Amino acid sequence: MTAPATYLDYNATAPLRPEAAGIMTALLSETGNPSSVHGPGRQARRRIEDAREQVAALVAAVPADLLFTAGATEANNLALRASAGRVTAVSAIEHDSVRAAAAGAAVLPVDGEGRLDRDALETWMASVSSPAFLSLMLANNETGVIQPVAEIAARARAVLSDVLIHCDAVQAAGRLPVCIDALGVDYLTLSSHKLGGPQGVGALVVAAGAPLAADRVGGGQERGRRAGTEPVAAIAGFGAAASAAASEGWSDTAARRDRMERALLAVADDVRIVGARAPRLPNTSCIVLPGVASETQVMALDLAGIAVSAGAACSSGKVSASHVLRAMGMPDDLSASAIRVSLGPGTDDAEIGRFVAAWSTLAKNRRVAA
Ligand code: PLP
Repeated sequence: MTAPATYLDYNATAPLRPEAAGIMTALLSETGNPSSVHGPGRQARRRIEDAREQVAALVAAVPADLLFTAGATEANNLALRASAGRVTAVSAIEHDSVRAAAAGAAVLPVDGEGRLDRDALETWMASVSSPAFLSLMLANNETGVIQPVAEIAARARAVLSDVLIHCDAVQAAGRLPVCIDALGVDYLTLSSHKLGGPQGVGALVVAAGAPLAADRVGGGQERGRRAGTEPVAAIAGFGAAASAAASEGWSDTAARRDRMERALLAVADDVRIVGARAPRLPNTSCIVLPGVASETQVMALDLAGIAVSAGAACSSGKVSASHVLRAMGMPDDLSASAIRVSLGPGTDDAEIGRFVAAWSTLAKNRRVAA
């Protein structure tokens, strides 16, 4: 099935960009193992190194510091392996691929707008007497709320003599200017499919001097940091998508998202826009319509040809209470009525109009039923 008429689920996955599809299609019929020394092998190697430069450029990283993985889940898992033997803290709103890899870590709370609780950070830092590890995402996938990572990393380095800092920038890259040096972090996670590249490929940037505990051993690929023959076409697609994303503007999208939220608020005065008072990604809106279950909303919108996510989308297809909204202090009965609408750079007014109309019908019917 192709994408529905109105696709508003870019934070789950973005449509493949033509630039990515073009190079991938061409490379599928190009033969060559990037580790081979002959001409076709060297050509495949060049494809990978070109992509490495393109993806690194998106976050102003040194290309040699970037290693390709099979997605951001792997990159997050890999980064968290470097926390072994360190006192570790992660924010309460991290993606599951960080939370699950950081079992035993301190969980730092966030405030009602989804921003890291700075007092809790100070308390945690005051308790740390040995090497430390901190993981804090740049922008949240459910709410779009942006963390002041640069400020927090600088503070952590001022207080802790030995700290490694990881940042999951999956949702921010390509939507905000991201510079690894300006963030001041040691590890940065990226995912191809959130910015219009293929699924199943991601990257971890490891700043010079930061340790990395490889978990795939065998061949010496990725400078011994991740064994296994590289998926050349997918990596090249990631590179092409990163290049295209780097030159994109998001101010129209932010304005469109804001107009959409105003239209919803005009229809139902008890609707909540989560994190609306915090800096947010330009494309994301987490909307709570009390009294209508997320699944009901998602299904009704799907029938109208509009794709959005429940507040928390689970890989199994079933929706469980969002740990993000819970961490923000939202009761589960309210978060069970949250949906996430995430726009793309090409989302237009007509698509937003269709969504607002379909959602308004849901909100008005709710009044009738109530
Ligand atoms: N981190 C964040 C913030 C995400 O939103 C996602 C995907 O939903 C991931 C990590 C995992 O990315 P991938 O699908 O590339 O494994």
